[in-house]
Amino acid sequence: MEAAERYKLEKNSHETERKFRSLADNSPDMIVRYDCSLRRTYVNLAWEKATGLSSEAVLNHSPAELPGLMTLAKSSEYEDRLLTALETGESVTMEVTMLRADGSKIHFERRIVPECDIDGGVVSLFSISRDITERKNNEDMLRIAAAAFETHEAIMITDAATNIIRTNQAFHDITGYSAEEVLGQNPHMLREGRHDKAFYEQMWQAILGKGSWTGEIWDKRKNGEVYPKWITITAVKDGQGKTMQYVFIFSDISERKKAQEEILNLAFYDSLTKLPNRRLLLDRIYSAQALSSRNGLYGAVLFLDLDRFKLINDSFGHGYGDLILIEVAERIRACVRSVDTVARLGGDEFVVLIEGIGDEAEKVTQNIAHIADKIRSVLALPYVLNERVHHSSPSIGVCLFKGNEQSVDSLLQYADVAMYQAKDAGRNAVRFYDPVMQQAVEARTALESDLRLAIAGKQFILHYQVQMDNSNRPLGAEALIRWQHPLRGMVSPAEFIPVAEESSLILEIGNWVLETACHQLAEWSKQSRLTRELSLSVNVSAQQFRQPDFVSIVCALLHKFDLDASRIKLELTEGVILDDVDDVANKMHELKALGVTLSLDDFGTGYSSLSYLKLLPLDQIKIDQSFVRNITVNSKDAILVQTIIDMAQNFGFNVIAEGVETEAQLAFLKQHDCMAYQGYLFSKPVAIDAFTELLERFG
Ligand code: C2E
Ligand code: MG
Ligand code: MG
Repeated sequence: MEAAERYKLEKNSHETERKFRSLADNSPDMIVRYDCSLRRTYVNLAWEKATGLSSEAVLNHSPAELPGLMTLAKSSEYEDRLLTALETGESVTMEVTMLRADGSKIHFERRIVPECDIDGGVVSLFSISRDITERKNNEDMLRIAAAAFETHEAIMITDAATNIIRTNQAFHDITGYSAEEVLGQNPHMLREGRHDKAFYEQMWQAILGKGSWTGEIWDKRKNGEVYPKWITITAVKDGQGKTMQYVFIFSDISERKKAQEEILNLAFYDSLTKLPNRRLLLDRIYSAQALSSRNGLYGAVLFLDLDRFKLINDSFGHGYGDLILIEVAERIRACVRSVDTVARLGGDEFVVLIEGIGDEAEKVTQNIAHIADKIRSVLALPYVLNERVHHSSPSIGVCLFKGNEQSVDSLLQYADVAMYQAKDAGRNAVRFYDPVMQQAVEARTALESDLRLAIAGKQFILHYQVQMDNSNRPLGAEALIRWQHPLRGMVSPAEFIPVAEESSLILEIGNWVLETACHQLAEWSKQSRLTRELSLSVNVSAQQFRQPDFVSIVCALLHKFDLDASRIKLELTEGVILDDVDDVANKMHELKALGVTLSLDDFGTGYSSLSYLKLLPLDQIKIDQSFVRNITVNSKDAILVQTIIDMAQNFGFNVIAEGVETEAQLAFLKQHDCMAYQGYLFSKPVAIDAFTELLERFG
């Protein structure tokens, strides 16, 4: 080739190269040229910038010797592609991901393009990498958006004119409408009509003003069912702030609402009667007091307890008791206004809260007394349930309030105190609270805490009251507990036993009495002829007898003191027996089997029922002193006592009269074949030394 021709060719090729470079260096894509042994012969400016490497450093090196971009793929993979392009003479496309120093990813689309000579032989390779990160990210976002669109929340999108343009699956599931049925429609089609125009106006004001609105809406499903939804409506705006679409996202909250209601019911209402429970009542009283302090009107709390309700449960079963309670609830409700609260505290206790009854104390009292008495008389009407007629009555305590000076708890407590007064007054009665009653309650609390100390402080002793037979000879004694209080002096058991019975203190006290009595019997059996034959009666309270191991406690004591069991006589009251007749009968039989004697104390004062007498293995009946007291003055009591003695003898029981104070009473009792006597006529209950002297006097 001639020099001139070669020069021209070279010049041409230089010119081509210059043009290529100026084009390539201005390209935003990264461009690398390789020769056929895969060494770089050129890298453009974009490549240098992206890799931070200069062309001088990397030219004449292959990617394996000196990698350019730190890609996530192996460099061998890149070389493989380059080789493929080299061998086939065809372009190869691949995607490459590179990690930036901050850990974020850059995505490239890389094309390897072979350059061929006139014969089709590959002379070099171009690798052109384009940053497609933004496109990739957009694709990801679209994928996420598509997935998010199909959530369990319904989504409905409308255009700016509120025509529905898109809905998701959850929308169809919740509304029952298919896409075809709703597309192009206005969301009005979902409305139910519960909300008025003003509601929707306010909603749209918020959407247009603040850009969104969230709240509860009642809509209608395709099948006509009305349901609550929790919805967020958002206006989607373009760059200029013009609304393009509205997005409605909602969920069906009917199940949640139902569950909430149920929880609310459980928390605030009694499940049997559906009346408010204690918690709701306390809340209502609290609000009533607040209102009263604003309007100056009186309110009242009525505390009701059904008389002898336990007896119904015990005799006819709890199911029957429940029916009565439901009926009671209905009857009370019918006596008061719908604004008044009737609540059930539990068991057979109800409370009525009456509000806004006037501002004159006297009139209010009369008014409330009238309402309370109406409730009382309505509850005392016969109950006809399961073809059985039943009679019941309430005791009602009333406490008035004005303003909120008293705490809610004390109001209830005062009404409760008054209720107990009604019970004490013979039941089926109404009583109003007065502060004197409260003092009594407080004294009782103090007594209880003193009682706890009494056991530890060994402040109890036993007194003995002699029991006589028909020939005026001592048969035995009744052990009666005495409390020698360091400050109060001698406290009567009539005062502290009921308090002990309300707590479990009676168990410890009762067991102490039993043990002390057994100890005394053991002493007597060792002493004179006068004492050896004596029996000793011990009072046993209901709670004490109810102890599952009561029989074994007695048995252990008999062994411990090596006693003749028949000398010990347990005095039970009808209250004990009514507790749980079957359990009581079992225990009594077990005690009898041990040889212990059983006496029914205070006979005639309880719910004396002949069926019990027949059922239970009793030895003795003790006629209550209230009858004995009047036998010589009241003919009814005289007849009653006579009848009791006759009946007891028919059943084969022994009879003792308690509270015998006069010769006249004794004469009457003897005349009617009573068998034994106890009372002040012979002796008061006395300490053991005095009792021993007494025996000697009689002996
Ligand atoms: P209760 O078992 O019916 O005891 C008879 C009560 O009548 C005794 O009262 C006794 O002092 C009293 N009394 C005896 N004769 C006469 C009389 O002629 N005229 C009058 N007006 N009263 C007479 P006390 O000792 O005050 O006991 C009262 C109640 O306390 C007892 O009634 C009994 O239920 C209970 N109690 C006494 N000691 C114990 C005990 O150790 N354990 C238990 N659980 N209760 C006891
Ligand atoms: Mg007694
Ligand atoms: Mg008695």
